[in-house]
Amino acid sequence: MIFLIFLSIFILGAAIGSFLNVLIGRLPKGEKITGRSHCDHCRKKLRWYDLIPILSFFILDRKCRYCHKKLSWQYPIVEIITGISFVLITNYQIPITRQFSNIRSLGNWSLFGYWLLVIGLLSSFIVIFFSDLKYHLISDYVLITLFIFSFFYKLFNNVTIQQFSNFFLSGLIVALPIFLIYYFSKERAMGLGDVYLSTIIGFLLGWKRGYLALYIAVITGAIFGLVLIVLKKKKLQSKIAFGPFIVIGTIVMLFWGEKIMEIIKKIYGF
Ligand SMILES: [Zn+2]
Repeated sequence: MIFLIFLSIFILGAAIGSFLNVLIGRLPKGEKITGRSHCDHCRKKLRWYDLIPILSFFILDRKCRYCHKKLSWQYPIVEIITGISFVLITNYQIPITRQFSNIRSLGNWSLFGYWLLVIGLLSSFIVIFFSDLKYHLISDYVLITLFIFSFFYKLFNNVTIQQFSNFFLSGLIVALPIFLIYYFSKERAMGLGDVYLSTIIGFLLGWKRGYLALYIAVITGAIFGLVLIVLKKKKLQSKIAFGPFIVIGTIVMLFWGEKIMEIIKKIYGF
């Protein structure tokens, strides 16, 4: 029985992932997000049986039914990641902030509301990760959506008005170094999207965790860049989007921040 419940939640997640794929593909190009899905190559409208999350990709053997061109791995990857995240969040496998360590004592409706918020945050992060990776662009709509989810996430965590203004300030503090890099590199190293994104991250996490998220982003970004250069996929001068790494840092700090802060306190005493 419990297996069936988690299987349904995985399928729901994969279906939402399918919608996130539409956002990833269309928002950076300024296309409407309504309207039927079509093939990236031949633009032919796809039928429902071509759009079954995860399955269609493998049934069609990675090829468009009509023009036989290769389909992007992005489609099943996003669907699988979203499905797995839904299951993990529902299963409380992911620890979510200290305030909610007693999450099981919440009423059903608040629990459901909180679940929706975390799902919303994670879905926004998935869209930002893949659209920045693919197009080097983070749509304003996704940033606004992320901010709205972050705002309600704070409300849910019983944040007071005073704390709210502190979190807004944290947003500016965390965004400052990114803004300076953006400004002095004349948009070459960072884009305006990175500045907005780090502002929201500072608001969501507070300045300490926000900076740690940026730190994780720089480290993972550097490792990734080195690997690409060693594999000769990129040259030293070529651009790598920073947004995906901010997303990685943020997710690590959002879900495991409490533990990481404890470890830092033990080692450095602050
Ligand atoms: Zn096609």
